[in-house]
Amino acid sequence: MTANPQPAPFRPATTILELGDSFYDAVESAPFPQAILRFRNDRAAASIGLDGLDDASWVQHFARFVPLPDSLPQPLALRYHGHQFRVYNPEIGDGRGFLFAQMYDDRGRLMDLGTKGSGRTPWSRFGDGRLTLKGGVREILATEMLEALGVNTSRTLSLIETGEALERNDEPSPTRGAVMVRLNHGHIRIGTFQRLAHLRDEDGLRTLTDYVLRHYFGDPGGLDGPVRLLDHVVRGTATLSAQFMAAGFVHGVLNSDNINVTGESFDYGPWRFNPTWAPDFTAAYFDHAGLYAFGRQPEAIHWDVMQLAVSLRLISPAEPLIAVLDSFGDHYQPAVTDAILWRLGVRPRNQSEDRALIQAIEPALRGSDTSIDRFFQASFGGAIPTHFGAEFDEARALLAPYVARKARDHAYWQADAPCSMLIDEVESIWADIAERDDWTALNAKILAIRDFGAALGD
Ligand code: AMP
Ligand code: MG
Repeated sequence: MTANPQPAPFRPATTILELGDSFYDAVESAPFPQAILRFRNDRAAASIGLDGLDDASWVQHFARFVPLPDSLPQPLALRYHGHQFRVYNPEIGDGRGFLFAQMYDDRGRLMDLGTKGSGRTPWSRFGDGRLTLKGGVREILATEMLEALGVNTSRTLSLIETGEALERNDEPSPTRGAVMVRLNHGHIRIGTFQRLAHLRDEDGLRTLTDYVLRHYFGDPGGLDGPVRLLDHVVRGTATLSAQFMAAGFVHGVLNSDNINVTGESFDYGPWRFNPTWAPDFTAAYFDHAGLYAFGRQPEAIHWDVMQLAVSLRLISPAEPLIAVLDSFGDHYQPAVTDAILWRLGVRPRNQSEDRALIQAIEPALRGSDTSIDRFFQASFGGAIPTHFGAEFDEARALLAPYVARKARDHAYWQADAPCSMLIDEVESIWADIAERDDWTALNAKILAIRDFGAALGD
């Protein structure tokens, strides 16, 4: 007998207001000419008790931004700075989004609904405050695929087309506009701390440190609060870096304003999945130096976390911060092992065998043009097929004693081709929408990804 899980109730929160109004600006959403519902994520909505909304109320909340009962009375554009491609920029902040609502989810975690493309704010600079429909579709695909692959990611809750025509230099223009809502475990970025350090606001840094420790880590803080905070962030981001690698994912823009202190990945622009384990593979066309290339992501994220340590230096002695910062690699190594074993569908054995296995797999993948997705698809459950060639011999032998974590009994495993999310497919899904307003491929892909996730997951 299986009990029906209790539906989560909607449990609103307004904790951000504790920080005070020097952390944000009250704003309004743009008055969009139309509101055509394109995607509602009922699975994500169920986790916060909002799956019961009918479509009309959904649009009222997620395109017109009528406040949710007892959550924030007005949207707040959050203030932050950040290093963009290693250059400090004190002029960013929520320029095309805002924090719309807060609530607790079915696991008791404090969550945010944040927007993308909801209109101009004091931080828009020369931007129009808008999101292209294509950008929104791409964010749905990234988040669904990452969730299936076990990556700690934000989820795309809603995408609504706005009827506006936008001019962009990286898309054929005019292009269709949209407004998106994402469900995040907070929107406090490394850049939120950097801004306070830049302003030499020590009280603000202490307030924010305590806030994050309390609400996101259930940690009472205290005198060594900054060090404890850094430790949580190091662990979370090291794990995230490892998950990106095992997923074959390239985020594209790992700027410090895009790094959430909870270690949850978010804000997907020019992302790509890597077809092979090529370390130099980049996602963003403007990343000429390959700063955020596939193989450099752990180092890039560690660099961002170092900027958090620099900010916390104002309210903490340096030595313990440096020690914590140096532990990034110690957390990354086991996390990458866990993530790869998980994707292989096997249970860990012991540290040294697990490490040896990963050290055999990684160079074999790197040295060949083997498809990452095909490799994991074929080997799920613990056997690397012989057609992967001699470069996998060592890995094949080392993997043999491992026990499957999950049987290959889901219908997904009957498919010949793995569920992938490579750029050609992303472009083809978008082309159907752009050329014929045909959403079938997108909707079918979302179902296929969720099937894939069910086949992989516990
Ligand atoms: P991103 O690289 O997407 O994380 O964005 C970096 C900064 O640029 C943030 O402050 C964004 O809010 C801002 N931004 C990006 N696109 C726009 C836009 N179309 N209008 C206004 N601000 C934008
Ligand atoms: Mg951003």
